[in-house]
Amino acid sequence: MKRLSDIATIREILSRHGFTFSKALGQNFLVNPSVCPRMASCSGAGQGVGVIEIGPGIGVLTQELCRLADKVVSVELDKRLLPVLEETLAGFDNVTIVNADVMELDLNRLIAEEFADMEVVVCANLPYYITSPVIMKLLEDRLPVSAVTVMVQKEAAQRICAPVGSRESGAVTVSVNYYAAPRLLFGVSAGSFMPAPKVDSAVIRLDILPEPPVQCDEKAFFRVVKASFSQRRKVIANSLSAGLGMDKASVTALLERAGVSPTARAEQLQLADFASIANQLDGGTP
Ligand code: SAM
Repeated sequence: MKRLSDIATIREILSRHGFTFSKALGQNFLVNPSVCPRMASCSGAGQGVGVIEIGPGIGVLTQELCRLADKVVSVELDKRLLPVLEETLAGFDNVTIVNADVMELDLNRLIAEEFADMEVVVCANLPYYITSPVIMKLLEDRLPVSAVTVMVQKEAAQRICAPVGSRESGAVTVSVNYYAAPRLLFGVSAGSFMPAPKVDSAVIRLDILPEPPVQCDEKAFFRVVKASFSQRRKVIANSLSAGLGMDKASVTALLERAGVSPTARAEQLQLADFASIANQLDGGTP
């Protein structure tokens, strides 16, 4: 089987298929041979486990996942890669390629159809232009998956995995922590890719929680989080007033009822604080 992390091999395959990289589709392929085996083994792929991969490219990570898992379903948008994948994955009978935009796909249906009663994990080197939307779709769709292991830009990884309530946290930190326990696993240098992007990357793993760590109306929770971080350096009373379109006196009274200081900043709050504000917004605890 061809070594897909070997630059000469990749060039030969791609030129034979007349393939040129699309920047718009975030096509930076991994060429560092140590990254894919490490990522696959951290993802939970193993016996009795099914894996959903997003964006297989030429299949370098797919091959590693196929070696470990019972079944792999890879979703690739670029149909020019289909004949390439047919060639590079020819040695595996446990892989299915789905030619689709992951953002348009009904992943719950795909899991029901492809993985029946298996434990399922997600593992992907994500295209950078849609990192956060893909992660939030995977979480918000409430997929029956146990973990999501993805490569993202280093800054995005640090933001997602920052402790809630720390200066480095943001709306995405709080949102991800509502659904999962995030961990930064390891960094990957820009030189590990072809073509090399301008920034370094990191692999993160999100272990899906059986249920959210706070109880409140979900829509209200995310409205509050979004409004709170819309002007992250302002005090919470001001950012909520602007973000929720409420006058300052009403917001201050609401914050006091929720037990949150009106002069706190969004980055200092815990999930329980956002939930408490959401419950007041809704008119009471569920
Ligand atoms: N897994 C390969 C690797 O590690 O070398 C390729 C990763 S590359 C960063 C991202 C891949 O995602 C590309 O193959 C690209 O064509 C694909 N892609 C981009 N947008 C997509 C989308 N909306 N849905 C599915 N795949 C997409």
